[in-house]
Amino acid sequence: MIIDTHCHLDDMRYDEDIQEVLARAKAKGVEQFIIPAADPKTLQRAVNLSERFDEIYFAAGVHPYDASNYDRAFLEPFVEHAKCVAIGECGLDYYRLPKEPEAIEKEKKLQKEVFIDQILWAKELQKPLIVHIRDASEDSKEILEEYAGEEGGVLHCYNADESLLSLASRNFYFGIGGVLTFKNAKKLINSYPKIPKEKLLVETDAPYLTPHPHRGERNEPLYTTHVLEKMSILSDISIEEMAKITTNNAQELFKL
Ligand SMILES: [Zn+2]
Ligand SMILES: [Zn+2]
Repeated sequence: MIIDTHCHLDDMRYDEDIQEVLARAKAKGVEQFIIPAADPKTLQRAVNLSERFDEIYFAAGVHPYDASNYDRAFLEPFVEHAKCVAIGECGLDYYRLPKEPEAIEKEKKLQKEVFIDQILWAKELQKPLIVHIRDASEDSKEILEEYAGEEGGVLHCYNADESLLSLASRNFYFGIGGVLTFKNAKKLINSYPKIPKEKLLVETDAPYLTPHPHRGERNEPLYTTHVLEKMSILSDISIEEMAKITTNNAQELFKL
């Protein structure tokens, strides 16, 4: 059994054929799915899917791009839902910052405040975090080291920064996705073997970051198999063993 630990099945691009998407995934052994619902405007869509399909779980939180819309009171009922397995995706993303130095500082400050609040909340609820990090490794690491609880979480989009690997000792896992299959993924391919096996998770981030050989198409959870294939080559173990390891890790982290 394979678990896609990060797929945006609440995206409108699956409205027409969600049932076929799930069936195709299951035919390849991908049997459970976690939607990191991080946009307050569409959170209810993820909840609806988790109520409609037993095999779908979700996380509730606010993505750094939506930091200005963060509101704990609004999120509360979602976080208490029986199918909510984590807080996220939350984190820091400095990829698209404003131009003026003052605006940059303001944006970073807001993202940090919202990130820290979600970390503290997760700790209170004893839930793991789904963390999105882009071009913000240093600040993210500092914040996680200072505030994260024992539940830890998963780091995704982490730019393959080796500086983040030490977070494994704080119970942070590393979500490996389609980028590992890209020809220009040298950095990730180099850091991948340094991640402890017991801290590896597999994800698609569907509909984004479609793995080779499907680049350019809409991504789907079934393509976790391409990621696992590449992981198994780099780890020098069978795909079946790789699937077993990552599934055990996901079950442990998300208590599935
Ligand atoms: Zn993300
Ligand atoms: Zn995502």
